[in-house]
Amino acid sequence: MRITSVTPHLLFHALEQPFESSFSTFRARHHCLVEITCDNGLTGWGECLGPADINAAVLRSMSDMLIGRDPLQIDRIWLEIYNQFRDQGQRGLIHTALSGIDIALWDIAGKNFGVPIYQLMGGAWRTEIPAYATGGFRPEGGDHATSASAEMAACVAEGFDAVKIKIGYGIASDLAAIRAVREAIGPDTELMIDANHGYDMADAIEIGRRAAEYDIGWFEEPVVPEALSAYQQIRARQPIPVAAGETWHGRWAVNEALKQGAVDILQPDVCGVGGLSEARRILTLADVHDVRVVPHVWGTAVALAAGLQFHAILPQSPPAHEARSPRLEFDRTYNPFRQDIVTRPIEHENGIVAVPDGPGLGIEINRQALAAFAPS
Ligand SMILES: [Mg+2]
Repeated sequence: MRITSVTPHLLFHALEQPFESSFSTFRARHHCLVEITCDNGLTGWGECLGPADINAAVLRSMSDMLIGRDPLQIDRIWLEIYNQFRDQGQRGLIHTALSGIDIALWDIAGKNFGVPIYQLMGGAWRTEIPAYATGGFRPEGGDHATSASAEMAACVAEGFDAVKIKIGYGIASDLAAIRAVREAIGPDTELMIDANHGYDMADAIEIGRRAAEYDIGWFEEPVVPEALSAYQQIRARQPIPVAAGETWHGRWAVNEALKQGAVDILQPDVCGVGGLSEARRILTLADVHDVRVVPHVWGTAVALAAGLQFHAILPQSPPAHEARSPRLEFDRTYNPFRQDIVTRPIEHENGIVAVPDGPGLGIEINRQALAAFAPS
C-alpha cells in the first residue's frame, strides 16, 4: 500500500450570531481537514487545529514527504517530517499540520486492519465517554450572564451533568456570569471556567479566590500559555485546580510544563499536539508526573472522532475502583461541521457519547457536505 495523494479540505461557514472568547471574535467557523489516499483505494481523514488556510499551506509543503510512502509506517513518517521542519516548528502550525497527517494515517491503518484505531493503540479502557458541554461564550453585543445561564441550563436539560463556560471579560462581569450559571444549573452539575488566557497573574489569582465559592471543577488557561511560572503561582495562590495544554504542542513543550508543575489537569488536543501518536506519548509524561488528562476537543466531526479514539485509550487513573472517567469536551456552539460532514453524526445521549466502533476513526465523510461548505 502506497500513498498517492494528500489533499487539504477547507470548510467555511459564516455565523449569524458572532461570539467572543476573551481575546477573539468568532464570525465564522473555519476548519482544515486533510484527506490521504492510497493506491489500493483506502482513504484516511485527519483534522488540523487552528488557522485553516495556513494549516493547508503547511500540509501542501509536507505532502512530498508522504507520496509513495507506506502509510503504515506512522511513527517513522511522523519523525521524518518533524525532523525536516523542527527548526521552525517546535510549536504551532508544524504540529497542527502534522497532527492532521498523523490522524489520517491512523484512520488508514484502522481501515486496513478492519478495527477502530483504539484497538491498534492497545485497546480501549472505555467506549462510552461522559461528556461535558462547552459553551457560554459572550455573544457579540449581548449580556454574558444572561446568555450563559440560559445556554447552560439548556445543556443540563439535555442530560449533561457537567458544563464549561468562557470567562476573561473582566472580574466583575465574570463573577456575575459564574454566579448566574451556578444558580441556573443547580448544585449538582459540575461547572468549569475557561479564561482563554484573558487574565494576568494577579487578576487570575483574585478571580480564582472569589469564584471558588461556586464550586468550580477547574480554571482553564488563566494566563498566556508561555507563562509557566505564573501557572505555578496561580496553582499555589488560589484554590481551584488549574487546567491547560491545548497550545502546548509536542512532547517537549508538554514535558516542560509538567516539569514546572504548571497544571493539575493537562488538556492535549489530538489535532494540535502532534496527532494521536504524539498524544499517546504525552500520556506517558502525564503518568510520570501524576497529572490528570482531560483532552481538549474543538472542531469538526473528524476532530470529535479522533478525540473519542484518544479518550478510549486513556488509562484508568488512579488505579482504583472508583477512578473517574475522563470527560469528553463537547462543544455546543453552533457548528454545522460537527454533524453535517459525516454520514452518521456523533451525538450525545443523556450526556454520554459512544466511541465509533467502525474501522479507523469510525466515520464516513459526506462529500456533498464538504463541497457545500468549501469557501467560495
Ligand atoms: Mg480552552
